[in-house]
Amino acid sequence: MRNKIVAGNWKMNTTVTEGIALAEAIVARMDSVPAGVSLVVAPPFTHLTAVAKVLAGSPVALSAQNCADQPKGAYTGEVSAAMLKDAGCRYTILGHSERREYYGETSEKLVRKMALAFENGLKVIFCVGEKLEERQEGRHFDVVQTQIAEVLFGLSPEEMANIVIAYEPVWAIGTGVTATSEQAQEIHAFIRRTLAAHFGEAVAEATTILYGGSCKPSNAKELFACPDIDGGLIGGASLKADDFIAIAMSF
Ligand code: PEP
Repeated sequence: MRNKIVAGNWKMNTTVTEGIALAEAIVARMDSVPAGVSLVVAPPFTHLTAVAKVLAGSPVALSAQNCADQPKGAYTGEVSAAMLKDAGCRYTILGHSERREYYGETSEKLVRKMALAFENGLKVIFCVGEKLEERQEGRHFDVVQTQIAEVLFGLSPEEMANIVIAYEPVWAIGTGVTATSEQAQEIHAFIRRTLAAHFGEAVAEATTILYGGSCKPSNAKELFACPDIDGGLIGGASLKADDFIAIAMSF
């Protein structure tokens, strides 16, 4: 049985006070979340220590949205994996399409970030996904395979146990357009076959693959019913505790 995960990516939203209130509301509703479903929240860097205090003693795990590709030193504005671990993070998201698109996140950088995340005991939610024109040109399988090969194929099967993959078609992120469950299942199954071909069946079967892109309470049930969809990475809908919990209840 693979881990089922619903992770909330708060992006650059909420003040610290609002973030604390959101985390408190999520923890307060944990009783409604089915057994076997793990929740993760990824607030902005400035909120991490405060949100870690709220989550302490609860099963909700803390994640960062990114980490530096250098261990420490003169890198103004960056936050290291060691700092994230120290702040209470168990995960970091890496390779989100917004970081690839707006901040020049290359596979080369992601390899360095991932190594530092692992060195510091963080698990990684690794995002992949094609742009609209790439899907329209029928290149979505190639794009996703390349993103996976360039960053994950250098890992050992043991390291893969610390990876959660999030398939997020860029055309579905924040747009209100969700991939159909058929489209999502098709590419999730492809990702699993890609992992199987490189790492073997055991790793492929054990890897949690999340769907992300306008996932909300009204479509989560259908998406999560697909055999290769093991949960969601949720943006907009993770900013409301009721919606986030309703998505987690969709298994
Ligand atoms: C995301 O950016 O990770 C995401 C899934 O966003 P949204 O749910 O808002 O589409």
